[in-house]
Formats: sequence, structure tokens, C-alpha cells
Amino acid sequence: SRDQIHNFAAGPSPLPEPVLEKAAKGLLNYDGTGIGVCELSHRGKEFKAIIEGAEANLRKLLQVPDDYAVLFSQGGGTTQFSSVFLNLLAARRLKHADETNYAPPTVDYVVTGSWSSKAYQEAVRLSIPPAPGAQPFAEPRIAATTKPAKFTTLPKADEYDFSKDAAYVYYCENETINGVEFPGPDSQSPYAFPFDRVPDGVPIVADYSSSFLSRPIPQIERHAIIYAGAQKNLGPPGVTIVIVRKDLLVDTTEAMKLGGIPAVPIQSEFKTLADNKSLYNTPPVFSIYVSALVLEYLLAERGGIAGIAEVNRAKGDALYAALDEAEAKGKLRVVVQEKDARSLMNITFVIEGEGREKEFLDGAEARGFRQLKGHRSVGGIRASLYNAVTLESVKALAEYIKAF
Ligand code: PMP
Repeated sequence: SRDQIHNFAAGPSPLPEPVLEKAAKGLLNYDGTGIGVCELSHRGKEFKAIIEGAEANLRKLLQVPDDYAVLFSQGGGTTQFSSVFLNLLAARRLKHADETNYAPPTVDYVVTGSWSSKAYQEAVRLSIPPAPGAQPFAEPRIAATTKPAKFTTLPKADEYDFSKDAAYVYYCENETINGVEFPGPDSQSPYAFPFDRVPDGVPIVADYSSSFLSRPIPQIERHAIIYAGAQKNLGPPGVTIVIVRKDLLVDTTEAMKLGGIPAVPIQSEFKTLADNKSLYNTPPVFSIYVSALVLEYLLAERGGIAGIAEVNRAKGDALYAALDEAEAKGKLRVVVQEKDARSLMNITFVIEGEGREKEFLDGAEARGFRQLKGHRSVGGIRASLYNAVTLESVKALAEYIKAF
């Protein structure tokens, strides 16, 4: 049964049990209507209340300023790799509407792991000119990268090289596969994201997929777009939250008519989604419903974002302490050595010794610890400590590591 298991999945990941119980009931009979939540019209008053409640609670938890729209989009984080590029290129084109010799802008990527690499590659792909030899749509650049260090650390402030007039700057706040995360609110660390070095007026985009709602977002008002897939801390896969500054909700059709930008599918246009209150087409109703329940639960039961952040800090500290102790004895190696660059959500390590990793995983399995295998691209072990993973589960894993 569920209570004999500690689930450390990287996503889709565990959800709070009271939420699942409520959702199971809603799936059969929503709020006494005799109709399940996935059988109700997404334009009816019931669903309207669900999605509006979710937006209000999300705004409250993360203190999203009024000049930002909160969108419920589809297609996962992967679709946002394309959508942020397309919308921000359109916004840029409209700003330069009078230019007959429109030059492709640079787009600056901070590449600190697998997911920011993928986002950068998508920008490269979408920049391919409409015909061989024609002007590309954009010039993607790498403003900083830790690839030579195999993505086991973060760049320091003076290692960033932003272009003066980029269409945007892009970074990934928490690299789910590699286990590096920017140090977070109030940090004086040399690894903090260097907002001050980004030239004034250049929009900043952040992929928050795997750290969304785990703690407050530093300098939210310094961002143009923040997006996050639901399937870590928010709800089931299917919905992706996009927080976008309202001046960037632009008419991409008008931009396309000016030329010099790729075609923007209507499903990717933030303005259309915003104008239609995220109901331009049929939304992922179940995912939004469960996310709404999670948001209610986080506010009512978990003490809001400050309470959540405190528990996540305690969980991370407990596990890293056990790992550092085992590393000092030569039993394992923590992948990210710099404490300030370590993720609190995805903790990666490698067991030393021939055959010992399998022994570790088999022993873990026997004790009810599940889904600890690292991503297939990097191997090793990964423990994901999202919001629904309890401090007790983490302490139990820490005890197992000490004994092992
Ligand atoms: N960004 C990050 C940080 C992720 O962790 C993931 C998925 N784990 C993605 C983007 C891609 O999201 P999706 O699978 O929803 O397309």
C-alpha cells in the first residue's frame, strides 16, 4: 500500500494523499453534481470556478504581480522551449516594425544541464532560415555554460557574457537531471543568477519546471516569462503554467505579416491563451482540477510558500548531510560538490565500487524506497524531494544511506 512506500520519483512525482482522495471522489462525482470532473463542460460554471480558484491561489502563493498573466497551457515544458522563442521573437519584430532591413536578434541561453541544452537546441532549430542562404530568424548564443564541467556546477557571475540587445535571456532554475539549482531567494552566493548583468530591457525567461512552488521565486518582477510543467510540485502531467508579463502578450499574426519571424501556431500564442482565459481550446481539465486542489492544500495545510520552503530546506539538509558523511568514508560521490549549486529538489550521487550501485538499489527497493535510479542519460542515483515527499521519508532514506 502507499504508506509502505517512499516515492522519490523525478516526475511525474508523488502528490499529497488528501488531494488524491478528494480528486478520486471528484472524478466520479464532482461536488454533488452526479457528474465526474472530466465529464463536465470546460465552459460550465463548475470548471470556471476551478480554474479561477487555481489562478487566484497561485498568484497568492507566489505573489505574482498584477501586470503578469497566469496561463494554463498544454504541451509540457517542451512546448515552451518553442513558444517562448516564437512569442518573444514576435514581440521583438513588432518593436522594430518600421525597419525594412530587420536584422535577426541574438537570443542568449545559459546552458547548465540537459533541459537548458534542449531549449537552446530548439532555438537553434527554429532559427533555421526559410530558404538555404536566407537570413536566419535569430542568432542563438550561449551566454554561459558549465558543459565542460559536465553540468555539475553553475557559472559564477563574471562568467556570463550577455549580448547587449538580445531578444531575451533564458535560463533553467533547476536542472532536474543533473541536480544543479540556482541558490535561491536572498542569496549572496557567487552562483546566484546575475540579474544585474542582464542589460536593461532584455526580457528574462526562466524554466521553473522542477522547482516551481518549492520556495519563493527570487526577483519575480525581473522576469518576463516563468514557466513550469505541473508534474513535479503542482499536479499531474498535462498542464504547464506560464507566467508572462502582459506587455509581451503580442499579436503574432501582425508580427508574421512584417516578415523575418517563423510562423507561430495559434496554440503557442500567449495572447490568444490570455484573451481566452486559458480556454481557447479544451484544456486538460483533470490536470487543472488536481492542481487546483494541490494549491488549496499548500495554502491551507502547508503554511504557504514560507512553510513549504522551510520543510524543503530541512529535507535537503538531512539528505546531503548523510551523503557527505558517506562520501567522506569513500562509499559514494555527490555529483554536485559546490553546496550553493546543489538542488534541493533533485539530489544526484554515484555509489562507489563494482556492483555496489545495484546492491544499493536492491536494498532500497526492499525497504520501500522507489524510483531512485538516475536519468538514463547520466546514470547513478537521483532522489527527488518534491513537496509531497515528507521529511520522514527523507530521514528514512538518510538512515539507509548511513547503514549502507
Ligand atoms: N524543463 C525541466 C526543468 C524539466 O524537468 C522537464 C521535464 N522533466 C522539462 C523541461 C520538459 O517537460 P515536459 O516533459 O513536460 O515536456
